[in-house]
Amino acid sequence: MRRRLEEFMQGRYGADEFSRFIMAVTLVLLILNMFTRIPLLYLLALVLLGYGYFRMFSRNISKRSSENYAYLQKTERIRAWFDKMKRRIVQSREYHIYKCPSCGQKIRVPRGKGKICITCPKCRKEFEKRS
Ligand SMILES: [Zn+2]
Repeated sequence: MRRRLEEFMQGRYGADEFSRFIMAVTLVLLILNMFTRIPLLYLLALVLLGYGYFRMFSRNISKRSSENYAYLQKTERIRAWFDKMKRRIVQSREYHIYKCPSCGQKIRVPRGKGKICITCPKCRKEFEKRS
């Protein structure tokens, strides 16, 4: 079974970032359709699903990869924003961000160290915080 799938995918494009995006939108549309029962959403999801599979099974690899490239270019800023948010969430688990009371400089401090004395790297003002 696995072999046959591999043989089938031989020379075909496969999945990329753009098709993952298409599949994600398809999923969102299907979920929305479950709640709203708007037939158009379902239809749209099916069309997108078909398009997603068409791209994955396509043999025109250069065309598909240039589509993916265009997608990545157009969404670069949005994806960078999401990456930034993700990093910020991960960081907020391990660090506290404090603002210097005198100059407003943001200072990152590791969590769970108890009461600590922070020296602002910008204006050298010292203040105490619980981390
Ligand atoms: Zn400061």
